[in-house]
Amino acid sequence: MEGLFFDSWDTPVYRPPSEARSFILRVTRGCAHNRCTYCNMYRGVRFERLADEAVLRQIALAERYGKYGVRRVFLADGDAFVLDTDRLLAILAELRRRFPHLERVASYAAPRDILRKSPEEMERLRGAGLTLLYYGMESGDTETLAAVRKGVTGEESVAAGQRVIAAGMQLSIMTILGLAGQEGSRRHALATARALSAIRPTMWSALSLMLYRGSELKAQFERGEFHPLSPAGLMEELALLVEHVELPETERCLFRSNHVSNYIPLAATLPMEKERLLADIGRCWDYLASLRHWDVYNHDDTKF
Ligand code: SF4
Repeated sequence: MEGLFFDSWDTPVYRPPSEARSFILRVTRGCAHNRCTYCNMYRGVRFERLADEAVLRQIALAERYGKYGVRRVFLADGDAFVLDTDRLLAILAELRRRFPHLERVASYAAPRDILRKSPEEMERLRGAGLTLLYYGMESGDTETLAAVRKGVTGEESVAAGQRVIAAGMQLSIMTILGLAGQEGSRRHALATARALSAIRPTMWSALSLMLYRGSELKAQFERGEFHPLSPAGLMEELALLVEHVELPETERCLFRSNHVSNYIPLAATLPMEKERLLADIGRCWDYLASLRHWDVYNHDDTKF
């Protein structure tokens, strides 16, 4: 069935592309952290945990329209995982009760929220049906994470990812190419490669930096304090990163770089297709290095 969404608020809701057919259940509004310099998703939105009544109203509507059709649920907004474990467990129990064909529940999760939950709490949540977390790690580099005010160190970023995997959940990690600008590119790539190797995520999406209107990073760029990578520079950074990600032969990590922010879509299963992926990246670099003009804000979504 097509995705379901019942909401009477006028603030934006974001979800991963792979949740397009899910029932989007809003359990929070905005983002509790709301400080990352590259993000404008919830600027101006006051963070709020939705009351039981508001959550149950959405569930009741979804039951009315798709009791037997709802197989996947995505808990929104920006970091629904900020909710206490007991509250999440109660919501998961309600979802299981109302939707007999429910297969999985997923959510975005910020690293601090993951680390606030004990390994035992994580396992209980997985056992209750929350089996997939989307984690915007962005970088494994402490300096880069501090610069963009992610609120964690590189070590904490790794610990958060490992906690998800140890709980038996699927983990979809997002990283951002170009986040450390020209000066920090190599350091960001190498530390992120080490972090991914240590975490061993189920899926890894490499997005490219976009300078969003209203974001602090865009203002830094316009003041001459941040120097973004060129499209070819992004490919060089990706090549370095992929080259240094070391996963066991038995691992199957789905790599994607096909977000609207990316110049050329790329996909591979790692580590088995690493050499082919590096060859693809090389061909992309050949083309992108020939470009003489590009949108430095990376807002041109017709570039594919
Ligand atoms: S990137 Fe995620 S954690 Fe950071 S402000 Fe945006 S929604 Fe919140």
